[in-house]
Amino acid sequence: MANLNCHICEQGCVLAEGKTGMCGMYEQKDGRIEERFPDRYLVACPISIETMPILHYFPGGKFLQISTTGCNFNCPGCISTVIVRQMPRESRAFQTLTPEQIVEKAIQEGCMGIAFLMNDPLASFSTFLRVAKLARARGLQVGCSSNTYFTETSLARITPYLNFINVGMKGFFDNAYHRCGAASGIAPVLRNIRSLVSSGVHVEISAIFMKDNAEELTELAKFIARISPTIPLQVMRFIPFENADISLEPTVCEAEEFCTTLRKILPFVYLFNTPGTELLHTTCPECNLTVYRRNFYGPMGAKPYGEHPASENSGQCPQCRCDLNMIGASSDSAFQEGDFEGGYPFTRALEIVEAILIAMGVRDKRKLAKAWESLLEKGGLKKLHHGIQTPRTYIETVRRFGQIADVSESAEDLAGFLEEKLAYINAGVSMATHLPRVYYTMAKPLFYINHERLENQLVETAGGISVNKSMDSVGRPGRNFTKERLVALNPDVIFISAFISNSVTDFCEECLQLDIQVNAVKKEQIYTPPSPGWDFGSPRWILGLMFMANVLHPEIFNFNVMAEAKQFYRRFYQMDFSLPHVNRSFSKPDREWQWA
Ligand code: SF4
Repeated sequence: MANLNCHICEQGCVLAEGKTGMCGMYEQKDGRIEERFPDRYLVACPISIETMPILHYFPGGKFLQISTTGCNFNCPGCISTVIVRQMPRESRAFQTLTPEQIVEKAIQEGCMGIAFLMNDPLASFSTFLRVAKLARARGLQVGCSSNTYFTETSLARITPYLNFINVGMKGFFDNAYHRCGAASGIAPVLRNIRSLVSSGVHVEISAIFMKDNAEELTELAKFIARISPTIPLQVMRFIPFENADISLEPTVCEAEEFCTTLRKILPFVYLFNTPGTELLHTTCPECNLTVYRRNFYGPMGAKPYGEHPASENSGQCPQCRCDLNMIGASSDSAFQEGDFEGGYPFTRALEIVEAILIAMGVRDKRKLAKAWESLLEKGGLKKLHHGIQTPRTYIETVRRFGQIADVSESAEDLAGFLEEKLAYINAGVSMATHLPRVYYTMAKPLFYINHERLENQLVETAGGISVNKSMDSVGRPGRNFTKERLVALNPDVIFISAFISNSVTDFCEECLQLDIQVNAVKKEQIYTPPSPGWDFGSPRWILGLMFMANVLHPEIFNFNVMAEAKQFYRRFYQMDFSLPHVNRSFSKPDREWQWA
């Protein structure tokens, strides 16, 4: 049988009989190229459109997210690695749903439409095309997030059914595309953006901002402005996962300065992965009024809040009537997803389970797949959400996944270690005569972490009073609030999250600029755990707990946390602890660690 060229994406793979291409999602069979896993979904659940994220299209609108697996690119540090590459494609975690069932589900859930995200729709092109056609015929809207490496042929097939798209760009120079294995460089993406815009598809563009690509993204912004200056540009502050180098992560301050500069080229530039930033809001380019407000909602996501213009005027600034390129009516309130459901919080749930298994010495990917299948059974995500909220329930969760993965003995070793340290800290704290008031934040001073989260329970276990517990329990992982409220709370100590973190110096500087007069600022009692992954997600929270105990009660505790980290890495990962090699991944202990 002759080899066949795949014309779905610009990778242009040549497939021999029975063989697959780069994405592994198509194979040549009997002289035809066929999708290997049609109608198989890892995710089919409602989200608000900003979770996708899309910001200028039916704000707050509820859409049915669909995600499969696989990707035509292989980008270093991909945030979707767990679903794109690690989830076995034959796993029973996938549900088979026909296009009719997907469309029916969207209608029954009260969704305005369907959005394909998290992995690339090019990996499941015929599945997506069939869903898109049926959805449009039933009056639903259709959109996707994609690297947009469509060929002209495949783009022409999908465009009539697309209402909106988030084009995930890798940079603006060919090199950035070559690093992701995209042999034809950036040219097809630029061609496709022009085509989509001229076809009337609502286009938003996202790009990752790293320490070394400001010049490249500036050129990208200029290119977008030449097509249309009202196209939104989503700047993703780089979060180094997988094998990515943490030294490429820009600080909050650097990212905000950069986006402020870009707003001189494009008025609708947004900064993601930066809780508390004002640069996630839509500000009128004419009169400077803040028209739409949004909170950080996990990696790569946003969540609208506060008042916004009435539906009939959602596209205009209410003060000066300037056109904001906001398409469609806004919803009264944004849909709130279930625990770990939708967008990238879902991938974090998979990573947390992976983190627990790796720390129990699991090196067999089949055991990981088994644990993920259990997680994705009905109610499993909710159970995990509750299971990781306190040190005690986390330890139970360790034992539960130890049983599921048939490694109860190793689970017992890890759980026993956590319990032993916990008991030591409890005994120490019982002698404390004063409990400091502690505020836990992410990245910027005015974003508080929801009181249910583990970080706040660690504070109380380490002998502090969590002031976050007096705040509304809304927002995941937390939400913006006012300076007045923070001043009224008057914390003695502030901890900055180890996941979406900030430099303590920059944080203090901002507190002074905002005139946040609280004890923690006056006495310079502001800290962030010394290493990522020490306060949420991974069992390494035990190291963060020791660090917190030292800070809150130096009269009682004197842990050598770096020596503790070395012992923990040796005992549970069988490797050396090397701080510069640890990145933001919950699951992998450092960037060198890989599944065999
Ligand atoms: S979709 Fe792209 S990566 Fe996948 S087989 Fe076809 S050409 Fe290759």
